[in-house]
Amino acid sequence: MKNGRQFATLAVHAGEGPCKVTGALDTPIYQSTTFVSADSNEMAAVYGEEKPGFMYTRYGNPTIHALEEKLAAIEQGEAALATASGMAAISTAILGYVKTGDHVVAARSLYGAAYNFLNKKLPRMGASATFVQSTRVEDFEKAIRPNTRLIYFESPSNPILEILDIAALARLGQSHGIPTMIDNTFASPALQQPIPLGVTVSVHSATKYLCGHGDAMGGAIIGSKDCIYQLNHEILRDFGGVISPFNAWLLLRGIRTLHLRMPAHCANAQKIAEFLAQHPKVERVNYPGLPHHPGHDIAKKQMKAFGAMISFEVKGGYEGGKKVMDGVQIFARAASLGDARSLIVHSASTSHRAVPREQRLAIGITDGLVRLSVGIEAAEDLIADLDQALHN
Ligand SMILES: *Cc1c(COP(=O)(O)O)cnc(C)c1O
Repeated sequence: MKNGRQFATLAVHAGEGPCKVTGALDTPIYQSTTFVSADSNEMAAVYGEEKPGFMYTRYGNPTIHALEEKLAAIEQGEAALATASGMAAISTAILGYVKTGDHVVAARSLYGAAYNFLNKKLPRMGASATFVQSTRVEDFEKAIRPNTRLIYFESPSNPILEILDIAALARLGQSHGIPTMIDNTFASPALQQPIPLGVTVSVHSATKYLCGHGDAMGGAIIGSKDCIYQLNHEILRDFGGVISPFNAWLLLRGIRTLHLRMPAHCANAQKIAEFLAQHPKVERVNYPGLPHHPGHDIAKKQMKAFGAMISFEVKGGYEGGKKVMDGVQIFARAASLGDARSLIVHSASTSHRAVPREQRLAIGITDGLVRLSVGIEAAEDLIADLDQALHN
């Protein structure tokens, strides 16, 4: 890692330091839209990027800059760009690589809004995406066309926790001269480092584990200096999806404990997955930490631990899934994920209700599928909560 420092040290310190003017230990929230220059020459130099400095918060802000430095360090990228939300990160990053006439090869199991962006928004600008109906790298290769300009995927994926071989997809991209982009939200940089595995760009919904407390929206793009410079100057500044200084400050604060929270999330999730796997009312459990999961060996190779997202199929179909969601007392019935608090959703009646049933089933989102974002409460209490909800 950077300067030989460990992840924990970078998560706490990278990008930050005492204020050179006041000595304030914590990074101040620079709640200012604009920055003053001493004279016309200085302002011209800052605008011309001949002199470091800030001019206007949509172009850059010291609190946001600190977050970007921390994000780059913890994910081992040269540079990072913070955005207003995960979708601002995803749309900015894709628009940086895809123009009219271009084609994207994408995984089938994707966050809903990312799928919509690729499937519905790219065609508006005369570009298109093919969704590969398997996890096999050969099938990604078969989908490549002469005009393919990007390979886009998630691992683990939402909500059925498919695992893709990150290093193999990165090699595929390199051998065809096509950039690869991963949504690393479910793992977080504490568990998975796609850039050293050869991926071109990593994107995040920082709203989730990076924030960790369910109180701020944000997004992140990590890549080479050139790539981040181009995404900032060509796309983000003009489309305008910048993060607020206050949310950047909340994310700085969240990331400082990421390396402590993730092992606690993962240990709870492993226990819950094992409990669910032997429960008579549960048909199937999707969790890469279970030995029967088809991606278990690849996950073991590319992740430090298996994450804290679980989905499982309840016996009793649609109504069975709804019943479990209605029966819990500690789990909060809420979308989102990566919160310290445990969350539960029944996908078919909520997050995927707009997806036609046939299409939903084809991507593994069955009628009784329940998704858990396992928090950092006591595992025993969470298991007891699910047990009583399953027995209802
Ligand atoms: C939540 C999420 C997003 C979208 O992020 P927002 O911060 O809500 O815009 C993208 N990808 C994944 C995997 C997510 O979980």
